[in-house]
Amino acid sequence: MPFSDFVGNPETVHRLREMLARNRFPHAVILSGARGSGKYTLALMLARAMNCLEQPIRGGADSDGLPDFCGRCSNCSRIAQSEDLDSRFAEAVEARENLRDTDKKETRLFVQTHPDVLIIPPDPPQLMIKVDQVRHVIETIYYRPGEARERVYIFTSSAFMKEAANSLLKVLEEPPDFASIFLLTENPGELLPTIRSRSMIFNLGALAVTEIESRLAEVRPGWNARQRALVARLSEGAIGRALSFDLESYVAARSHALIMLKSALDGKDSNNAHTELFKVTESYRSGAEGRAKIDNLVRTFYSLLEDVMFLQSGAAQLVRNTDILGELKKMSESADFAWVQRAAEGLGEVERGLRRNLLRSLSLDAFATALERVS
Ligand SMILES: [Zn+2]
Repeated sequence: MPFSDFVGNPETVHRLREMLARNRFPHAVILSGARGSGKYTLALMLARAMNCLEQPIRGGADSDGLPDFCGRCSNCSRIAQSEDLDSRFAEAVEARENLRDTDKKETRLFVQTHPDVLIIPPDPPQLMIKVDQVRHVIETIYYRPGEARERVYIFTSSAFMKEAANSLLKVLEEPPDFASIFLLTENPGELLPTIRSRSMIFNLGALAVTEIESRLAEVRPGWNARQRALVARLSEGAIGRALSFDLESYVAARSHALIMLKSALDGKDSNNAHTELFKVTESYRSGAEGRAKIDNLVRTFYSLLEDVMFLQSGAAQLVRNTDILGELKKMSESADFAWVQRAAEGLGEVERGLRRNLLRSLSLDAFATALERVS
């Protein structure tokens, strides 16, 4: 029973499936929720439930009485090929890169593994939904589906160019009976009010830490309880983030961040601290990997600084890096609130520098030096 694989938000899933059962599924559905909350996973499940050729018998032994999908028929299996969105997206980008220059400009990005199910990701480099993508939706949506019962369109982002949003509105004003549009967003407020009013909004809320922990216990048997607790807290209620969490790189980045913070805090042995710092920043200097590593480091820094602030304000229950609580407590005692504040500001500088593509390690060095100065 594949819908039973969906983790969390059972009421929302139930309502959507009930509308399917009654043949009253809305033409446009806004699925809202944090990154990793399961918006895309759920939209693809619904696309399969609409089009499965071997629907499990409702009322059967392992059925809960609502529409589901088999996961094996030709519609289900082709739609499932879109599940790994990152890989399909990368393939589409690469295919476009290999086109002649004149064609490249006119080619918009799509992911399509079934002829009647179209996924519309934000188009790089701006990472916005562009008007030509919506035009392609308009060109196809009024044709009856060929191999499915329902045409399905999934917009994976709500960052629409203005003209694109206006074109989408035209479709929503006169949608065909046999098509469903999913708009995925972290913030429905980003969509035009006129788009929102023509759609039904469903929210995927954050899951409880314990719920994520117990799911991790099933799928990550190699992790101990402390590791599961850490990942569950860092994922902020988003199951997708927990399931794809790269614990090893996080712990590596965190040990670097801790070295930098500690050496900045105990200025006494500054010679030694400097050598340590130099070693850390040196390892971030180059390579394609460097960028991802440094993004990781910056995120890790924030989570540590926030934890220190939680401890300072007496909200220890909010600390996420629970496995190093002792170390964090020591830091929260030696750093005052203003220091943490300035460190967070310095980190903001590093982030802005990264966006402007300044030499990575240069802005990190500057951050390290700034940390030392404020202490
Ligand atoms: Zn099927």
